[in-house]
Amino acid sequence: MGIKGFQGTSLLDFPGRIASLVFWGGCNLTCPFCHNPALVLDPDAYPDLDPVDLLADLAGRKSFIDGVVVSGGEPTINSSLLPFLEGVKLLGLEVKLDTNGLAPQLIAELIAKQLVDYLAIDLKTVPERYPELHSSAVSADKLVETLRLCADAPVELEYRTTCVPGWVDEDVIVKLGELIKGAPLWALQQYHPEHALCVESKEVLPYSTEQVQSFVEIAGRYAQRVIVRGV
Ligand code: SF4
Repeated sequence: MGIKGFQGTSLLDFPGRIASLVFWGGCNLTCPFCHNPALVLDPDAYPDLDPVDLLADLAGRKSFIDGVVVSGGEPTINSSLLPFLEGVKLLGLEVKLDTNGLAPQLIAELIAKQLVDYLAIDLKTVPERYPELHSSAVSADKLVETLRLCADAPVELEYRTTCVPGWVDEDVIVKLGELIKGAPLWALQQYHPEHALCVESKEVLPYSTEQVQSFVEIAGRYAQRVIVRGV
């Protein structure tokens, strides 16, 4: 595992900033609806990119990028994440971390060391169903701990939920909303089944735009701002 992909410039993934994207291989979940299964199931099929080379590349871009988006897979399972982010911050770049939130200790350390400016945390379904997202034991207690520590953290914060039928419905939005009450931003994302990890999930029909909008109305009771992506 390690860094498996790099995209030099993006306007989309770090709100308000021009950023480079760095993709890490491997994940501690195997969500059936995962949109990036190759990085999750077979990260070793991709060569590791050398973090030193990547930092040198980023140094050459820092006059025209504002930051770096760290995504995956799940970046927080890689021990090389923290030193890489230290290198990014030494360049004076901002960091957005995309995470499933299951590594509260590391996330707390990244916040304490001011190595992350923007956290985008996935809320996939209700916590009690997280054990269904992997073949080995998964405890959503760690996610709940992350939500608790992030509530007052000095970072920009975004929660993200992909509206996958069978995993997300009105009741799930209510229960997740209760967990993140007062959150600054909750992004509800349309499900695009074509790249899903499991064959069965490729067959799942996405919700209609109207249905997603009805989730937005419910989510709006809990988050300060709700946005929709991908509809
Ligand atoms: S959706 Fe995210 S957390 Fe789930 S398997 Fe894919 S990369 Fe991992």
